[in-house]
Amino acid sequence: MKSGNKNFPSDEIQPVGLNDTDTVDFFNDEYFMRAAIREAEKAERNHEVPVGAVAVKDGMIIARAWNQVEMLKDATAHAEILVLTAAASVIGDWRMDGVTLYVTKEPCAMCAGAMVNARVERVVYGLPDPRSGACGSALDITGFPGMLHQVKVTAGVLELECTEQFKQFFRNVRNGKLPKKHFCGDCCTEK
Ligand SMILES: [Zn+2]
Repeated sequence: MKSGNKNFPSDEIQPVGLNDTDTVDFFNDEYFMRAAIREAEKAERNHEVPVGAVAVKDGMIIARAWNQVEMLKDATAHAEILVLTAAASVIGDWRMDGVTLYVTKEPCAMCAGAMVNARVERVVYGLPDPRSGACGSALDITGFPGMLHQVKVTAGVLELECTEQFKQFFRNVRNGKLPKKHFCGDCCTEK
């Protein structure tokens, strides 16, 4: 055989993106964001604002959580806070060295602050929040040089999917498919 991989005998047909030196990264940011989206689906099924999060260390999901503010009647029960608490329980330490947190929507100031305090290595989010996002959109808590630690930020992973999930929730609230029980500010103003 003159050239090519023996499994692809034609010169015209070559494996896409694979050769002897490439590896396939199945566990990339989109893979873990999809897991966070599934957590957000759990929130939606429970009539909570659909935000989901997973914590990843050494290529494995070590904790998952979804927004439970209404269920727990706790303003701090954002998905990111709950996933940090769960991850700390798994690791046995509050320090999130080497942990990447995936969350469907850009974290708020409270959650971004918690990630800084927990020394999260990186946060990956889907939907940006220009009104109150604290990972660079409205505020930059994660990158503020005066803090003890800075969290690396990757924005816009599966942004379209995360945005549609979030907007559909508020459409359902406005058209009566979901109970309008929480913060009518958002329910009434989200377009
Ligand atoms: Zn938050």
